[in-house]
Amino acid sequence: MSHDMKRSIGVGLLGAGTVGGMLVSRLLGDADAIALKTGLTFHVVKIGVRDIHASRPFEVTSGLLTDKLEEVIEDPRVELVVETMGGLDPAGDLILAALEAGKPVVSANKELIARRGPELIAAAEKSGVAFLFEAAVGGGIPIIRPLSETLAGEKIDRVIGIVNGTTNFILTAMSDHGMSYEGALADAKALGYAEADATADVSGADSAAKAAILASLAFGTWIGIDDTYYEGIEKISPVDIDFAEEFGFVIKLLAVCHRSDDGVSARVHPTMVPMDHPLASIRGATNAIYIEGPAIESLLFAGPGAGGGPTATAVLGDMIDAARETLAGAQVAPRIQFSPGELVSFEDLSTAWYVRLLVEDEPGVLGKIATTFGDAGVSIKSVWQEGGEEAAALVVITHSATERSQRAAISALSAIDEVVEVGSTIRVLGDRA
Ligand code: NAP
Repeated sequence: MSHDMKRSIGVGLLGAGTVGGMLVSRLLGDADAIALKTGLTFHVVKIGVRDIHASRPFEVTSGLLTDKLEEVIEDPRVELVVETMGGLDPAGDLILAALEAGKPVVSANKELIARRGPELIAAAEKSGVAFLFEAAVGGGIPIIRPLSETLAGEKIDRVIGIVNGTTNFILTAMSDHGMSYEGALADAKALGYAEADATADVSGADSAAKAAILASLAFGTWIGIDDTYYEGIEKISPVDIDFAEEFGFVIKLLAVCHRSDDGVSARVHPTMVPMDHPLASIRGATNAIYIEGPAIESLLFAGPGAGGGPTATAVLGDMIDAARETLAGAQVAPRIQFSPGELVSFEDLSTAWYVRLLVEDEPGVLGKIATTFGDAGVSIKSVWQEGGEEAAALVVITHSATERSQRAAISALSAIDEVVEVGSTIRVLGDRA
């Protein structure tokens, strides 16, 4: 075998849409530059898609496309499998089959990894091949490799991220232009920042899969998607955006991964972020991940969290990494080992809350409200009140208390006669939780 042949790798691709299509174009268009920089040549020999007749952004040679996806795994020319098709099925079983066949796999599929990560990582370990997924979180932002390799020696305390560009675009439009949630969502769709069905984004589900992956890698204890609480931005109103600004906050949809003496946790919810926090200035569709640890103090990774180009770059990086190992004939160990650990239930997590109420403008109401919070074990940090014709807007910012106590307080508040409405509750980002 000549030196050149040894440096070339046969690639099988599952999916050639936004990311996969761009990846193939880049592999063809940038082949010389990639070879010059890495000494590697990638040959895409088989691509599995749904519709083999659909037009593609790259030249389709005879036999390249197939709708029989297992052909991609089984083709003896395929030495490396790249999965950019998304979804749980059939992607999961195809990846498993590839790993079991001893073929390294690169995937961009956060949903699948958050569900079946340990199983796939174990299969990779058993076969001694790589299973890499840099593109699964943060698109073009390098974050998986920093967390699982560069920072493996750091005892990370907290990872906080804006990991969904669609929701950050919507919240930024609401705060910059005073738009309604519905108006900002429509704009996001018109400009291509949101899919026609944006449910996975706005509900927080997409961020939750990413939070689960980030927390698992940061803390070395696997946290599945089912253990990750999430709440979306659908109920955020312009009134809250305005109040946030008045009190020195910006509302962001945050993924919060936390480690304490009690255990580890991952969660996603709209959050009041102090304006001087580095994440407060992340605008539009940009993503950012902020990591805190005793030695590194804090690190901020920011950039394009989606899009074919940036995501293809992340996939390419993994392909180069996996190809180097394959060509070196290395028996590859997983980049990170997971060990069992305590998971803190969401009910036991403590945060401060912003609570906006509409109350009847009568004497003594404030006292009742303060007592109700106190009875639930929640102490009040500040109160702001603005009288209206019949009802007054009342905003309370509490001190940190458990989710259980905060919820008990809200439910007791709703039962007070003078409380017309609990308008909204939004958690506040603290120094530690
Ligand atoms: P996409 O544009 O919808 O492309 C999906 C591709 O997979 C298409 O080529 C489709 O075939 C093929 N496919 C899907 N299901 C299939 C099935 N059951 N059988 C055969 N082929 C199937 O998706 P994408 O945006 O590129 O995303 C791909 C993955 O990357 C997802 O896991 C996503 O979460 C992840 N990701 C995407 C981005 C981004 O910005 N788009 C960023 C980070 C990560 P046809 O072309 O024939 O329909």
